[in-house]
Amino acid sequence: MTIKKIVSVDPSRFKLNEVNPDEFKLIGYTCNECDIFIFGPATNCQKCTNADVTPVDFSGDATLHSYTLIKVAPAGWIGATPYILAEAELSEGPHVLAEIIGVDFDDLSVGIPLKIAYVIHDSDKVATAVYKWQVSK
Ligand SMILES: [Zn+2]
Repeated sequence: MTIKKIVSVDPSRFKLNEVNPDEFKLIGYTCNECDIFIFGPATNCQKCTNADVTPVDFSGDATLHSYTLIKVAPAGWIGATPYILAEAELSEGPHVLAEIIGVDFDDLSVGIPLKIAYVIHDSDKVATAVYKWQVSK
């Protein structure tokens, strides 16, 4: 049996620590001019267009901004359906869309605390870590 390497679903947004799988981060940039944060890849600030941006790791703490039940998944979706799609606001400000796991739709309400998590989607060739939201206990 071969041990497969776990890869991030999107290394420009979700960073895995290959040595310690418990250490994972959403990543992005901060603008050195206006101090806003940007989720994911950026060459310029989304607010002031300044090119002086610095990579940052986000805390992974967020609040639930909006959510909906997806009954018909988009093409390429490899999880179960239906699923809950959540728009979460990171404590640093950016909004991040991801599935919310481990909770019933009726138990959700806007404003509850969330934290980032991930699940592994395993295929014949690769194990992919996909970031998800979960309710913060
Ligand atoms: Zn800026």
